[in-house]
Parts: sequence; C-alpha cells; structure tokens
Amino acid sequence: MLGIVAHPDDLEFCAGGSIAKWIDEGATVYYLILTNGNRGGHEQATPEEIKATRQAEQREAARILGVSDVFFADYDDCCLETNEAVKKDAVRAIRHLRPDTVLTIDPTMMYCAEQGYINHPDHRAAGQAALDAVFPLARDRLSFPELIANEKLLPHEVTTLLLFNLNSANFNVDITESMARKLASLEAHKSQFTPDSTMARKIQRLAKENGTKCGARLAESFVRITVA
Ligand SMILES: [Zn+2]
Repeated sequence: MLGIVAHPDDLEFCAGGSIAKWIDEGATVYYLILTNGNRGGHEQATPEEIKATRQAEQREAARILGVSDVFFADYDDCCLETNEAVKKDAVRAIRHLRPDTVLTIDPTMMYCAEQGYINHPDHRAAGQAALDAVFPLARDRLSFPELIANEKLLPHEVTTLLLFNLNSANFNVDITESMARKLASLEAHKSQFTPDSTMARKIQRLAKENGTKCGARLAESFVRITVA
C-alpha cells in the first residue's frame, strides 16, 4: 500500500490504526509526503528547521507503525497545487513502488460541518494529484513517457483506492487493537501533537463514532473504490 498525502502526520491522523493493523497482517506500506511541512511549527523556528524536525518526526512515526519507507517530495507547506510536477511525483511513486492500494484524503471533502473540520487546501491538492495519478496517469504508457524512457518506470494499475472522508464511508477497519500504536505514532509528531490536546480527544471520539457504525469498539473509516 502507498499513502499519498500533503503533510507529515496526515497518514497517522487518518489511518494510523489501519496501517499498523495491515502491516501486522503482512502488508508492505510506503508513504509519499508531498510537502515538507515547513509552515507547521508553532514555536520560533525557521522554515528549514521546521522541515528537518517534521521529516524526522514523520520517519519516527512511520517506524512505530512498521512502514517500510517514507519519500518526501519537498513542496512548500500551504502552497501545494495539483499541477503536472506534483502529479508526476505521484505517478513516479506508484510506478516505482507498484502498490495494489493507494490511500489519500478525499479531495471532494471541502469540510465536515458535523466535526467542525475544514479540509486543508494542501490535503485537497494532494488527494486530487493522487486520484489523477491512480487513474489514468500511472496506468497509461503515454502519460509521462519520460519516466519509462529515463527511469525504467513501467505503467502500473492500482486496484484499490482508499479515501479518508469525514462525510462518507463504505469501509471500516477495526482498530481496537492498534489504537495505542496510532496514538504513539501521532505522539512522535512532537511539534504538532500532544496527548492531552483537543486534537487527541477528537481522534478518540472519531474512532468511537466510527466503531459504533460497524460494531467495533474503535474504527477508522474510508471510502473504498475498486478500480475497474
Ligand atoms: Zn495535514
């Protein structure tokens, strides 16, 4: 599985419990983080310092979950656009890593009124790039042919797309056993997350709400698309 998102911490927030569970079950998981997160610091630090901190935190969070590798595309935080360069980075990762499943944040989710959540514009841009890369760009030989000619990255068909969307879901993952690791991976993002924060309480509440919908104590929920 390949997670394609905008920021260090997005995958732990959306899917950390599922990722830990899937890896326990034998999955190989990679991350592509499109921005460097360099505006995501609350304390006095330069963008370069924030970038280094956040990439180190992301690697530690991924290590806690058992993720095989993390790739960073290094676009500036809060400026991500769904342009050709970003799509090409997503296609490169898909053709290189050849995942059966890609996970991202649903770019059609602008907000969730129920949760008081506005979806960050970087999340939407990353989600759009991931969708476009899955279909049709990574699949098609004539899309980014230079990746084939210069980097020997052959076309690849992703079969399953998982989208994090607070407004709708058709696929639930019981994370009762892996919630502790999800929280530990979030706590690795020390510059962003504290265990007693409002965010931590929201994550617990959301996992319980998702669990209620599917008969589990705690769950993460996604839109799952089988790409035909
Ligand atoms: Zn984010």
